[in-house]
Amino acid sequence: MIVGEAAKFIVRAGARRGQGQALRGGFGAAAEAAVSDWIRASALAASADRCHDFRTLRDRFDARESSWKRKRMRTSEATLTARWVFPVEGPPIEHGCVTIDHGRVAWVGRASERSSDLDLGNAAITPGFVNAHTHLELSALGSDGRDGTKAACDEIDWLRRVVEQRRGGGREALLTASRRNAAASVAAGTTMVADTTTAGASWEAVGSSPLRAVVFAEMIGLRRGRGLETSQEAWDWIGGVKPEDQVASCARPGLSPHAPYSTAGWLYYQAAHSGLPLSTHLAEMPEEIELLRDRGGRLRGFLEELGAWDEGWEPISARPAEYVRRGELREADWLIAHGTYLDESDFWQFRPEAAVNGHRVAIAYCPRTHARFGHASHPYRELLSRGVIVCLGTDSLASSPSLSILDEARFLRRGDATLGGPLILTMATLFGAWALRADAVTGSLKPGKSADLAVVALPDLDDEDPYALLLDSDLPVVASVFEGKFTSGPWSLD
Ligand SMILES: [Zn+2]
Repeated sequence: MIVGEAAKFIVRAGARRGQGQALRGGFGAAAEAAVSDWIRASALAASADRCHDFRTLRDRFDARESSWKRKRMRTSEATLTARWVFPVEGPPIEHGCVTIDHGRVAWVGRASERSSDLDLGNAAITPGFVNAHTHLELSALGSDGRDGTKAACDEIDWLRRVVEQRRGGGREALLTASRRNAAASVAAGTTMVADTTTAGASWEAVGSSPLRAVVFAEMIGLRRGRGLETSQEAWDWIGGVKPEDQVASCARPGLSPHAPYSTAGWLYYQAAHSGLPLSTHLAEMPEEIELLRDRGGRLRGFLEELGAWDEGWEPISARPAEYVRRGELREADWLIAHGTYLDESDFWQFRPEAAVNGHRVAIAYCPRTHARFGHASHPYRELLSRGVIVCLGTDSLASSPSLSILDEARFLRRGDATLGGPLILTMATLFGAWALRADAVTGSLKPGKSADLAVVALPDLDDEDPYALLLDSDLPVVASVFEGKFTSGPWSLD
């Protein structure tokens, strides 16, 4: 399991912060290896994504020293140069360049080896960020309707306000918020999202945006009637999504049983039998553990207040991990939001190696949302050290001040100086892509992958550590590129 091994390697390398060591053997290795990686990635990308003639691309790559073919390539190529390029699967490149051809990364290397079509100056080119957990339909909760950070930090009070917001707005309000938040995500350098939706309300906004996506339809309800209603709505939506629309919009549907405290066990089993990618909130707060263990506590009071409590409800298990790891529930891809209160003895179950039949399991950690509710420290370090894939999410604007994964990465780094820059950047890009089964297409700058990029302004400092320049500043994302085209910022390649 390459990515799992990579996680362990990066954690070890993390102690040597700033040494520029990310993943072993990525771009920058022998050209032969690069070609074979490229061909494999291209082949996978072609089957998973757009139709693509990788044989032609291979011919071009093999012949890159041939001036005749070089001339032919130039007709469709564009080379971007910048002060630093972060391929993620390989060390950062000072004065680097990325050549884009037909929407794909064709070459990554030193700027001196190619002629530049567009110099981005004192900036970093990184892979587009992957937001591994968000709810684009939700808006900020503050009393003035804009500043979510003013809301109370008690998570159950917060849940009450989220329920009020969702009950107060119709489908049109969800779509309007989704459009605004999809645009904000693009401007923040995000090129892929794991979005959670109410019966597909965000699908149109996400699908028409320059974003890759898995859109998880929420299933919720301890009471049987409510569970049937929400699962029926989810399936009605999924049934109407045509395969060709998925290809055209680079998005596909999934299912999300909301959380063990809100969703009956049979909905988890129904989701696991669907064959779709799955997501759930798991081990999010101490009250959830208390409810699963005792069928009591503050969450029960809250559910009774909402009229959502079911006297006959029995949890799948008192251990949240069992909601995704017990029996048939393992037979699915699971992207787990939070996981803060997972029992340490269950961590091994979340290693890629512990998943069956090639299924994938990963944890989406949302650092700023986590901090807002004053939780116990998140076990991301312990999970990573065991080879578990931990990626980054923003959660929604109802709990996070922005939808920027770069902001999450910087927040994480400020709170944990021992976490290596290479690891943080990989959590913000490649690990999310892996969790969403898109790592053959996006998540790193590697020939054959889609040219999904973020351009981040860098400070006028001479720091030797490029990760310090990228992650210790508060300078913004200045442009986004999706499939080789600028989708935000002042530049164009046309
Ligand atoms: Zn969430």
